[in-house]
Amino acid sequence: MQNEKYKGLNSISFTKHFGNDEACLKYLAELKWEDEYKCKKCGYARFCNGKKPFSRRCNQCGYDESPTAGTMFDKCKFPLHLAFHIAFKVSTKKKGMSTLELSREFEMRQKTCWEFKKKIQQAMKSSMQYKLSGEVFVDEFLIGEKEVNKQGRSHGKKRLVIVALEKVTNGVGRAYARVIESSSSKEFRPFFEDHISSDSKVLTDEWNGYKPLKKEYPNLMQTPSSNGNSFPDIHIHIMNIKGWLRGIHHHCSKEHLQGYLDEYHFRYNRRNNMETIFHLLIKRMIENNPIR
Ligand SMILES: [Zn+2]
Repeated sequence: MQNEKYKGLNSISFTKHFGNDEACLKYLAELKWEDEYKCKKCGYARFCNGKKPFSRRCNQCGYDESPTAGTMFDKCKFPLHLAFHIAFKVSTKKKGMSTLELSREFEMRQKTCWEFKKKIQQAMKSSMQYKLSGEVFVDEFLIGEKEVNKQGRSHGKKRLVIVALEKVTNGVGRAYARVIESSSSKEFRPFFEDHISSDSKVLTDEWNGYKPLKKEYPNLMQTPSSNGNSFPDIHIHIMNIKGWLRGIHHHCSKEHLQGYLDEYHFRYNRRNNMETIFHLLIKRMIENNPIR
């Protein structure tokens, strides 16, 4: 069975396409068993129709699996077509949607929206399969309440975030960000390893914490930051993240910051492929395999 990949950003067409649970179940079933069907209990490959719409019943052991079983749509407290619609809005709207906006639009409790949105954010985590390469800017920033001028890198109660942004021929490419505990090479290294290929020309400011990384990143270069003027692209990127977080997500608590950073960059890194971003998100939500 070949799944028809949903493309598009228009809400009206979307609701026409996924206006009821049946259409969504069909989409999930086609995508879930796109490559093959294999019984979860016994591994048998042949099936017949199960009891519920689009579910599959194993011909050997009789195990009946629904399209939502084992996915992030499992045991969802509200109709599936609304879950699809929320996933659509959060992935395709340029700035996403806060749980407050979602609860107003879908007339659901904000807590319910939040629980579902957390799953979406998990699905939006980077797969870490596609590392940044070429010229990569790295910087850190603080996020939290009022900015206080401080010397050095002490940050009190605010959260520290490291961000990497790739430069491409006609502008900027992809980016990633991670909440870290301190500005030390110990904290920087895992982020570098997960997101930046070792042959990249990494550009950082002169902070000492980056120095030890020159071993793994021989092309790492440090230049004075001169109040951010040396790296305008990454500073614009940081300003945009901060603006987004302060704008519609002003209740973003510390422990949820990483989820928001993942959400932001999932969209950002696909800003030129928005037409299929919903499909990709659904695929990830079916796999239900949060990267730890
Ligand atoms: Zn079976």
